[in-house]
Amino acid sequence: MSTYQRSSAPVPVLMRVIGNSYALWQSGNARLCIVNYHRILEASDPLLENEPDVATFRDHMKMLADCFKVLPMHEALAALRQNRLPPRAICITFDDGYRSAHDLALPVLREFNLPATVFVTSGYVDSGENMWNDRIVDAVRAVTGSVIDLEAIGAGRHAVDSIAGRCAAVCQLTARAKYLPPAERMALVEALEALTGRRAAPLMLSADMVRTLHASGIEIGAHTVSHPILTSLSDADADTEITASKQALEAIIDAPVRYFAYPNGKAGLDFDARHIAMVRQAGFAAAFSTAPGPVTASQDMFTLPRSRPWDSSTFFYMLRLLRWLAG
Ligand SMILES: [Zn+2]
Repeated sequence: MSTYQRSSAPVPVLMRVIGNSYALWQSGNARLCIVNYHRILEASDPLLENEPDVATFRDHMKMLADCFKVLPMHEALAALRQNRLPPRAICITFDDGYRSAHDLALPVLREFNLPATVFVTSGYVDSGENMWNDRIVDAVRAVTGSVIDLEAIGAGRHAVDSIAGRCAAVCQLTARAKYLPPAERMALVEALEALTGRRAAPLMLSADMVRTLHASGIEIGAHTVSHPILTSLSDADADTEITASKQALEAIIDAPVRYFAYPNGKAGLDFDARHIAMVRQAGFAAAFSTAPGPVTASQDMFTLPRSRPWDSSTFFYMLRLLRWLAG
């Protein structure tokens, strides 16, 4: 890791002072913000407008290094339980197991000496397959002509004669596919891909990349085998998705996998009390939802909320984290 020195510029210093003041004011009721990324892009992409490009990601990491105290997950959760969190405490997470965590994020994390956790969907490791949502994006991008006609499978007609039209097609088809049974979802994806005659390059981590992340001090967490909506599965299948992902990743890194992130992550919709019990039973120490907001000492360790970086600028992202830390 590098020896990055925090900035002494006025804005970072002011933000550190404000964050420390909030922590003093809270007197022993400190909060933790867990930020959550998915894929990092080489360049911004209108079809993936919620995913930051690597330059924006670097701005975020510099801001976190300058203004906050970024902790390894196990240190942060131990400090939370013992009510000794430092002011401005942050953890960084990545979901799904994109190879961009290795190729693009890891060099930036090293530059700023920042710890992070990567939640890997184990079934995609070394599979050469991409996740269904990325296959939709890639097919909509690649299709020629002005209309995508999926009426034969009941998925409508989509005008794609402009960037805005392609963005709308991605949103509509992704929303439609998300809660379909797996076979119907795959039929939609394959019908879409049949219009393009091509498949995208692999986007997900290889086992060697997972080992490199682990050897670099990145915590490897589990995110199921195939990224299903757990509530759509039988209890037996959901339990297998949870436990088999832990076992597969432990075999890859030859170390315990301590943390779990629920696919899609909305409590009550994507997972419920049954799955929380399964995650506990599988031996995980904590689990993470996608509910927004800070973590407080009273938070259940198996439904920890997280924050996605969807603010309009790095500055507003920083202000939101400070506001959440302030309570
Ligand atoms: Zn996910």
